[in-house]
Amino acid sequence: MRAMTTSSNHPPAPPSDPGLTRREAIAVGTVAAAAAVAGAAEPDRAGGGRAPLAVASENGLAAVARAVQRMEAGLAPVEAAVEGVALVEADPEDVTVGYGGLPNSDGVVQLDACCMDGPTMRAGAVAALEGFRHPARVAYEIMRRTTRVLLVGEGAARFATSLGFEAENLLTERARKIWLYWRGQMSAIDDWMATPDLIEDPDVQWFIHEHGAIAPQGTINLCAVNAAGELGGTTTTSGLFFKIPGRVGDSPLIGAGLFVDNEVGAAGSTGRGESVIQIAGAHTIVELMRAGASPRDACLGALDRLVRATRVPYLLDADGRPNFDVKFYAVTKAGEAAAAAIWAGAKYALCRAGEEARLMDCASLYPAPPPWLPRT
Ligand code: ASP
Repeated sequence: MRAMTTSSNHPPAPPSDPGLTRREAIAVGTVAAAAAVAGAAEPDRAGGGRAPLAVASENGLAAVARAVQRMEAGLAPVEAAVEGVALVEADPEDVTVGYGGLPNSDGVVQLDACCMDGPTMRAGAVAALEGFRHPARVAYEIMRRTTRVLLVGEGAARFATSLGFEAENLLTERARKIWLYWRGQMSAIDDWMATPDLIEDPDVQWFIHEHGAIAPQGTINLCAVNAAGELGGTTTTSGLFFKIPGRVGDSPLIGAGLFVDNEVGAAGSTGRGESVIQIAGAHTIVELMRAGASPRDACLGALDRLVRATRVPYLLDADGRPNFDVKFYAVTKAGEAAAAAIWAGAKYALCRAGEEARLMDCASLYPAPPPWLPRT
């Protein structure tokens, strides 16, 4: 694939965002103070850092290394990001993304993805795509070849076929067994049971060990910046495990699971998608950075807003805190980076030019997660 033509000729970021309310400005300050107590990953305001730089969710260690390599070879950040996550999309061991991803409640793998190019603000996305292991590449082609942003379901599949993407069955044997186990566990009054051989199956045991008995989440988000300060990003997922067929989360939605603006930076998310959609998560982070917040404070500020927007009882624990997790990731044009989660203990992947890819601690709103919180 050809690198997109990009230009760094963009107006400078305004010094402050007149759209930021006093309350939100205060919220960011408050959260920043809380994070200082909780302990943050690394100073993310050291005047920027060496680029190219790529940041991703914890499952993106190899992906960030590849994205940086590709940017060093001259690819635009958006394309480097898509090529980085392709490693995870093709990996059957990762049951949250692409080939081998866990299916919906019907046992069908439906994938969501998007990408966005900072210099041009162009974006592409697919939702509920079946049969193609690289939805981020399909999203990239929508961005590159059409005047549209989002294709869904059958139309997205026809678009992929027309470009020569190979259709295949994405449901691996392991994912099928985990789905059968889930179906057997769901209810004592329906027709399905989890048989002992299934419960003892090594693949099912692996799932229970890695993700908890019924864990709903997983995705990869990757945001990248090159030495010229050009930004790009992508998010790709099989969505919530065993979701309602046709359900679409935050991952393919520009402004929710990903937002990139070359004037400022890039941001993305993983975790409970509906909650991210409700506050336009990635867009909120970029706007907070535009108003002067560091990436860490912007991620925490958006999480604070998300927590304040979580008001329905079925999403709250006994202490009124969210009974799920969301993680936000951000990079700036100057090469600053950070990530934050609602609950402490989360990691993210980071790679800078000339350095090994490594896992970093996310900042967090709350201390160590309660035992009931599914690992993601
Ligand atoms: N955000 C994804 C979704 O809601 C899932 C995840 O990242 O865990 O589909």
